[in-house]
Amino acid sequence: MVSAAIRKNLVSCRNFFICIGGCILLVGFFSLPLVWAESVRVLLLESIGKVDISVTGPFTIKDNQTDRVILSGNYLRAVFSKRDNKMYFGQRLLGSNSITIKASGENIIWVNNRGYRNTITINLHKKGLRLINILELEEYIKGIAVREISHHWPMEALKAHCVVFRTYALYRKQESQNKPYDLTTDISTQSYGGLAAERLRINEAVAQTKDEILCYQGKILPAFYSSTCGGATEDAEAVWPKIKCPVLKAKECPYCKESPHYFWKIILTQENLIKAMKKAGIIVKQIKNIQVLSRNQFGRALSIRIIYDDSALGISASELRNLVGQDILKSTYFSVTIVDNGFMFKGFGWGHGVGMCQWGAYAMAKEGFSYRQILDFYYPNSEVKKLNSK
Ligand SMILES: [Zn+2]
Repeated sequence: MVSAAIRKNLVSCRNFFICIGGCILLVGFFSLPLVWAESVRVLLLESIGKVDISVTGPFTIKDNQTDRVILSGNYLRAVFSKRDNKMYFGQRLLGSNSITIKASGENIIWVNNRGYRNTITINLHKKGLRLINILELEEYIKGIAVREISHHWPMEALKAHCVVFRTYALYRKQESQNKPYDLTTDISTQSYGGLAAERLRINEAVAQTKDEILCYQGKILPAFYSSTCGGATEDAEAVWPKIKCPVLKAKECPYCKESPHYFWKIILTQENLIKAMKKAGIIVKQIKNIQVLSRNQFGRALSIRIIYDDSALGISASELRNLVGQDILKSTYFSVTIVDNGFMFKGFGWGHGVGMCQWGAYAMAKEGFSYRQILDFYYPNSEVKKLNSK
């Protein structure tokens, strides 16, 4: 799904997380049970009428409602479908709304020809079938890393990322305790590709950092990260006002100048901006000016005034990014000027800028910093702890 050529662009996309539902989130820190058999639940597919499943090795299928094994064998190839609000296995009616398929050992479960480890749960959902991959945390990290960074990056950068990915996944898991799944396969959480996304060097980085996560005062750190900070990271609180964490504070980053996203510019036309305002529920005939009212100590825009028709709207720079599109207005680190057909935005970096700067981590590793030094630079006063240790 993701070519190598565009992968470097995808590393920037952590910031998309913040746009879900307009804004959000999440907050606080969570107590960390350090002795914990970790698994995560990843939503693979939803609202589908049928799905091809195969397992080339020993498997079991369990009815989740009765906890009874309804089928086992050494090879499975079947179509699961939803008809008349019931689940079918081939032509056979399953007397259950929820099943779990488990592959033994290293065997892989193929879902529409994409391979996944451990178990797949299929639930009957009002709009179709919902498939969730439940797998061990370490296996999950192997299946996302190459979607988020290049596996050719220096090993210490890969290791730093593995610790951050693991921490972020646990953070999301704790956020999702009352939800049917913890993570999705796209950039709204962390991009996950299952078996096809695994790479040898990344698996090695996962193994070398096994069970390591970032904590602050004994609790899981909300380990945000973004592609390129553009010269200085950002306070978490500026992006998500409810997050007050001394670890996630703006600081200068001299390392990400090599990033292809370090500098950008874009013209947003009247039409673009009128459309963005409509998303905020405001019907506008003409945008007359856009002013940056305040900036943080490094120059990142904080508050904006949009002057339109006979009125004006005050919003945060993050909200403006959400309205325009986070892949269009790549960061809040911008200046804006009026041009003939609209407004010229010139800026630095890609992403919300909170936490680790991924291209900065890459450059630090190239300069000889260890992954612990990289983590310490971007998450000062946090500590690396091992899960399952006493
Ligand atoms: Zn940076």
